[in-house]
Amino acid sequence: MTDRIKVKCNKCEEEMFSDEFVIDPDYQMAVCPNCVREKNQRKEVWKEVADEKEKEEPPKPPGWDEDDELIERLHRQKQKDKSEGFGFKDVGFGKIKCSKCGYAFKYSVDMHKPDSCPYCFNPIRPRSKF
Ligand SMILES: [Zn+2]
Ligand SMILES: [Zn+2]
Repeated sequence: MTDRIKVKCNKCEEEMFSDEFVIDPDYQMAVCPNCVREKNQRKEVWKEVADEKEKEEPPKPPGWDEDDELIERLHRQKQKDKSEGFGFKDVGFGKIKCSKCGYAFKYSVDMHKPDSCPYCFNPIRPRSKF
């Protein structure tokens, strides 16, 4: 263990043990484990963003207006109330979405804040499990 050589990473310029370097196909050069980890984390985020886009609702049919949308939402909300008992959905990044009005906002599970949807005041039940 005494004769491990430290070399500078091509990417971040940190000094790391040479035997921990890998040739990364994305960077097309030898990079340190930190850089690989960092890259993979960024890929995760990209993936989440892509997933989020895929989840977006399909385009509305022609003639669809906001009233229809509201009726549709209220209808879905009623069904949801029966089946799940709460109207909020975890949408990631520490945010939840109110399924009554569709408003997405930050919610702290630990502090139980806010205690209702800031848009339509739909109360968030403390024991709701997201
Ligand atoms: Zn590096
Ligand atoms: Zn709401």
